[in-house]
Parts: sequence; C-alpha cells; structure tokens
Amino acid sequence: MSMVVEEGIKKISRMLSESEHAVVFTGSGISAESGIPTFRGPGGLWEKYNPEEVASIYGFKRNPKEFWKFAKELIIKSSASPNPAHYAIAELEKEGVVKAVITQNIDMLHQRAGSMRVLELHGSMKYVDCLECRNVYEWEYIEKILQIEQPVCERCGSELLKPRVVFFGEPLPYGILSEAMEESRKADLFIVVGSSLVVYPAAKLPDMAKESGAKLAIVNLEPTEKDFLFDVAIYGKAAEILPKVLEEYRRLKS
Ligand code: NAD
Ligand code: ZN
Repeated sequence: MSMVVEEGIKKISRMLSESEHAVVFTGSGISAESGIPTFRGPGGLWEKYNPEEVASIYGFKRNPKEFWKFAKELIIKSSASPNPAHYAIAELEKEGVVKAVITQNIDMLHQRAGSMRVLELHGSMKYVDCLECRNVYEWEYIEKILQIEQPVCERCGSELLKPRVVFFGEPLPYGILSEAMEESRKADLFIVVGSSLVVYPAAKLPDMAKESGAKLAIVNLEPTEKDFLFDVAIYGKAAEILPKVLEEYRRLKS
C-alpha cells in the first residue's frame, strides 16, 4: 500500500472520528471484488453490451431475453457475497457513526453484510414482476430458473418478467430519492465508494452534501470528473481500503 493511500486512510478515519452523521454513498465499484462486474471502468459490462438497449425500459420490452442474458452475467455468475468493504461499512453503522448507506447497486450486498439503513436508489433484484398479469416472483426462484433457461411467467406465459430495478428511461422511486437527499443534506461527512459519479440524479448527491457543509471523501479505483469537490480522494480497491479505515477509526476512538 503506497504512502499516499496510507495518508488518505488516516485522513478519512480522522474525519469519521470527528463526524456525528456520516453517510456512505456506493456504486458498482464496491461490489467488484465480490465478483460482480461494474458497468464502466476496466472489464465493465459496457464493453460487451449497449446500455441504452439492454438496460432501458424500451429495450427490455422489445427484447426481454437479451436483458436476462445480461442480468445473468451481472449478478449470478459469481453467486456473489459481500466483501470486506460491505462489512466494514456495516460495522461503522454499528459503531454509530454511519447513519445511512445510499446505494446505486441492485445486488442487496449491503443488507447481507448487516447494514440496517440502506436506501436503494435504483431498486433491487429482490422481487420480479410479470408486466402482463402482475404476478410477483421472489428473486431466489427466478435465479434458479435462470441457471437453465429464460424465465417466463408461470401464470400467463409472458416473457416480460421485470425485476424491481430502475431501468434507463425510468424515474427513480420518489420516496427513496427524497430520503437520500435529506440524508445528504444532514451529513457532516459524505463518503463515496466505487462510483464513477456520472449517473444522474444519483451523482448530484455529493454536491448537495457539500452545499450543506459536509466534508467529502471518495474511495475509487480511478479518478472521476467530480474529484475536485472532495477533501480526500483515495485511488484503490474498496475491499482493501475500507477495513483499514474501520481499524484506524476504532484505534482513534479507543
Ligand atoms: P459505474 O460502473 O459507472 O462505475 C464504477 C466505478 O467503480 C468506476 O469508476 C471504477 O473505477 C470503480 N471501481 C471498480 N472497481 C473498484 C474497486 N474494487 N474498488 C473501488 N472502486 C472500484 O458504477 P456506478 O457509478 O454505480 O453507476 C452505474 C450504474 O450501474 C448504477 O446505476 C448501478 O445501478 C448499476 N450497476 C449496479 C451493479 C451492482 O448492483 N453491483 C453492478 C453494475 C452496475
Ligand atoms: Zn404473467
């Protein structure tokens, strides 16, 4: 671990130890080390698929098969589990300093790591709806079918089975977005982990936190266009850095 990274870890830990209301904002980069590919960045799924087509509501309605092929690669390939970054964030919530996790991810790994207050801006794969007859399926069931074939509705035979995630071209769930905005305004420290900060309106939240006086920190594999906003930026892998932050935070607090 380089000197620069070590310094960054110390800075974030110190900021945490002085914080009363820290909010963590995560993107697909935090789950990369759980084996789930990101959209953008090295090895991202965008290299293979056209986002506007496959993950848009219009594309989905035209070709649900292609969506499920994509979804299979996104989430199932690895039968993913939370990694040390997810666990460290859950621990920081138990310590009482992190008050909320705002995530763009749909993989449910924060909850599985033990985070209690998780605001899912883009929904999750937990439930899948038939758009024709409104039958509802649990993700575990669809996941099993997907190992073998394209899922279709058992009741009406439709291929239009849509997980409750926000597709391109769909609005964000209003209640969750306003809660996330409120949390961002309340935050005295706002920590971004693994997001390219280019998907709106989610990417607006760091600006809102800053405008309300929060300090800003980012842990990401590579620089983003918004790094000028941040008080601390660490470039590296979330699963290596977050546990170190937790350790240093505990040392400062003891
Ligand atoms: P993104 O794919 O646009 O960007 C990911 C960022 O994470 C990149 O900047 C990359 O440098 C960084 N990164 C990659 N590996 C990392 C690591 N090990 N540690 C730290 N950072 C790392 O992701 P985004 O900003 O979340 O936005 C894209 C959209 O993709 C979101 O809307 C989200 O819903 C969706 N998405 C979700 C999942 C998931 O649920 N796991 C996976 C892919 C995409
Ligand atoms: Zn149906």
